[in-house]
Amino acid sequence: MTKTIETEGLKPSIYGLTREQLIAWVIDHGAKKFRAMQIWDWLYKKRVQSFDEMTNIGQAFIEQLQATFVLNPLQQRQVQEAKDGTVKYLFELPDGMLVETVLMRQKYGLSVCVTTQVGCNIGCTFCASGLIKKQRDLTAGEITAQIMLVQQYFDDRARDERVSHVVVMGIGEPFDNYDNVINFIKTINDDTGLAIGARHITVSTSGLAHKIREFAETGLQINLAISLHAPNNEVRTSIMRINRQFPIEKLFEAIDYYIEVTNRRVTFEYIMLSGVNDLPEHARELVALLKDKKKLVYVNLIPYNPVSEHDQYSRSPKEAVLKFYDILKKGGINCVIRQEHGTDIDAACGQLRSKTMKQDQADTKPFDAVTVGFEAKIK
Ligand code: SAH
Ligand code: SF4
Repeated sequence: MTKTIETEGLKPSIYGLTREQLIAWVIDHGAKKFRAMQIWDWLYKKRVQSFDEMTNIGQAFIEQLQATFVLNPLQQRQVQEAKDGTVKYLFELPDGMLVETVLMRQKYGLSVCVTTQVGCNIGCTFCASGLIKKQRDLTAGEITAQIMLVQQYFDDRARDERVSHVVVMGIGEPFDNYDNVINFIKTINDDTGLAIGARHITVSTSGLAHKIREFAETGLQINLAISLHAPNNEVRTSIMRINRQFPIEKLFEAIDYYIEVTNRRVTFEYIMLSGVNDLPEHARELVALLKDKKKLVYVNLIPYNPVSEHDQYSRSPKEAVLKFYDILKKGGINCVIRQEHGTDIDAACGQLRSKTMKQDQADTKPFDAVTVGFEAKIK
């Protein structure tokens, strides 16, 4: 059984309830639906930081809320702000585990990348997150709280900016924590709350085919990204062992089903690893793989972020990336070369966390809670 914070005897966060679930809880506790709407409003519109600030809720009901839930389950342990405006947060969970969240400043708004698990069991050979086996799933409340704390960071600095986009691309495999991730998406998407538009939310999966099918049926209009990273089974299995369980044929059956049900476009992520998957023949194979759905796919070529433990990989040279891009374009495939963010901080998934864990192990002193909120020096 996966450990959850509830099994540890800790109170769950109220951010873990969707609006429907909050209404059900409130009615169950003897109050009317409008009470739930008031609480929802305090949480997501006024964004209070304690239950006591909910001034139109009676004291007895506040006490019931406090006896059942915590509001914010995360503590900010480090913040790094890069020159390009990228901000990276290291948060501590109630059981002391660490997760990271990244805010990217894009032309179109503020985009947050959230973490869904502590570690990841998929074990892709190029990824820093996969170095740590999954310790546990994050609860829906812990995922939503990442958005709330990033928003609070901007609220506190009186920067009149709203988190407008969310990518579920931090540590963890979101479809291996499916129910919590879906609840999180429903909560941030709710138009009476944070109201982050479905088309501004992207979830990325390493390709759990059965979950892609389930996801197709939710009716959520959010964007789906698939970590493809290779055009054939041989290369894909060598870098993503999940490809043994869900080889390209099975994965594409699920993707075809998703496209058929939703009529939505799918993004394919493709990390450019020098000499591994970046040759012209790989590009030609990719064109062949995607040719029957040209209008409905988008390929994102991603520069590899070097991970010191994975020194067998290096970043593809610029010429190789441009050549690859060119072959895709000529083959009629929509394609972009993704820009990097926060290269002067540890912006690749899992990097800040794994570095901090190493420092902690090296430290003789145990972690001191006073360092919460400390601004890390930018490299
Ligand atoms: N587990 C999910 C989502 C988190 S990973 C998934 O794999 O899709 C988000 C993206 O970052 C994935 O496309 C992943 O392959 C990519 N990624 C992992 N390690 C990377 C690295 N070192 N450099 C660049 N991208 C990386
Ligand atoms: Fe897990 Fe995604 Fe990293 Fe693979 S790339 S190990 S699925 S987080």
